[in-house]
Amino acid sequence: MTLKSKSDETIRLAVAGARGRMGRCTVEAAARDPRFTLTAALVRSVPDRADSVIPYGTDIPARCDVLIDFTDAQGTQAWLPACVERGISLVIGTTGHDATHHQRLAEAARHIPIIAAANFSIGIHLLVRMVRELAGQLGPTFDIEIVEAHHRGKTDAPSGTALMLLDQILAARGQARAAAVFGRHGRTGPRPEGQIGVHALRMGDIVGHHEIHFSGSSETLRIAHTAHSRNAFAQGALAAAAWIIHQAPGIYSMDRLVDALRIDL
Ligand code: NAD
Repeated sequence: MTLKSKSDETIRLAVAGARGRMGRCTVEAAARDPRFTLTAALVRSVPDRADSVIPYGTDIPARCDVLIDFTDAQGTQAWLPACVERGISLVIGTTGHDATHHQRLAEAARHIPIIAAANFSIGIHLLVRMVRELAGQLGPTFDIEIVEAHHRGKTDAPSGTALMLLDQILAARGQARAAAVFGRHGRTGPRPEGQIGVHALRMGDIVGHHEIHFSGSSETLRIAHTAHSRNAFAQGALAAAAWIIHQAPGIYSMDRLVDALRIDL
């Protein structure tokens, strides 16, 4: 990988978690993207590779416009104060935040613009919209099951994206989380009406697959999204970074970004 020198007009970008699966992919995508100059590839400790062209570091440089975070829930919290102090926009791709983390993000969003998404693929967000529409139109006589598949290294289940799909379906049908069942085994009895099944497969090197089944008395409708490479998420995170720097402080969702990018889809 080479880092070309780019014009001063480019967006100054930092990537946190730069040696992780998503961080590496985002650093490489940013290097190919003329809109960005990578000012920092943030890691917990700098690797001992003096010849590296990647600007590894453990602090955000003074001149930085936006940080893309692909770390873990604690990592996001670690970088949040510096972003607020220095007025740096934030793109959060990390999943697994708890209620306290969300509260801190909401406080930070009073000072800086933040976009957070469990899945930065544009295709997934179009899928979410279709699922919302179908769940509302098909009604409770159609049984709904969500199936997701990811690589063996994924540490949480079900995926944040499956939970997002679940919440959209629940909202469309006016149901609470109690309607969901996460896997089944044993003497389950007949399927209760309105139940939504969520199932997680962990195998091989699958980047990300989500499918939603709607099954009525004599027909099934199934829609699915497959990410072929982490580049699907990296490209979405870069699109989010280029967009968020122009927004007012607040917390934004992928819905807003997809609306803003509609002409490019
Ligand atoms: P990973 O474990 O491969 O990488 C995480 C990296 O972050 C590791 O290298 C770790 O050392 C580093 N890290 C942790 N704390 C840090 C800190 N304070 N500063 C700097 N680096 C720190 O994980 P991954 O597969 O790259 O996924 C990262 C996160 O992104 C997960 O939460 C995952 O669920 C999420 N993810 C989101 C999307 C999306 O589109 N939003 C897509 C894929 C994965």
